[in-house]
Amino acid sequence: MKYCYECGTGLVQRKLDGEGIIPYCESCGEYRFPIFSAAVSMIVQNCDKTKILLIQQYGKRDNILVAGYINKGESAEQAVVREIREEIGLDVISMKFNKSAYFEKSNTLMLNFSCIVNSESLSGLNTGEVDTAKWFTPDRAREEIKPGSLARCFLINYLDSNKTS
Ligand SMILES: [Zn+2]
Repeated sequence: MKYCYECGTGLVQRKLDGEGIIPYCESCGEYRFPIFSAAVSMIVQNCDKTKILLIQQYGKRDNILVAGYINKGESAEQAVVREIREEIGLDVISMKFNKSAYFEKSNTLMLNFSCIVNSESLSGLNTGEVDTAKWFTPDRAREEIKPGSLARCFLINYLDSNKTS
């Protein structure tokens, strides 16, 4: 961040006790910490990890991972549980953090988790938010996930580093 997001003045680097060097606006007299959103993206698996859930959303035919923004005041883990319950209607039994990546288009830090859900039933699918949801074998999921997407990077990375399971 080069300019103050309130007044547009060029920022200077100033030391802040306990935080190190932070961009500072001399016109506002305020430190300007970096601003970005944070979201979670989930590789949803059935109990024996033989299937992966991919969804289609917003009228598009691309297969993607379940994902959503983290609310203010919420932990990433809470967002994982909430999003899967809201969108798919399933409960998370366990989860593991995999990898993060910054997504420039929406100024969002994406945190990818893999998680196991309590059922393969898709009867609780929130059709207002998700068009379709389908279970794939890991090999099929690898082929079906949207080419060039961050979701694909996360999925391939996960599958390649968990080959034995
Ligand atoms: Zn300013």
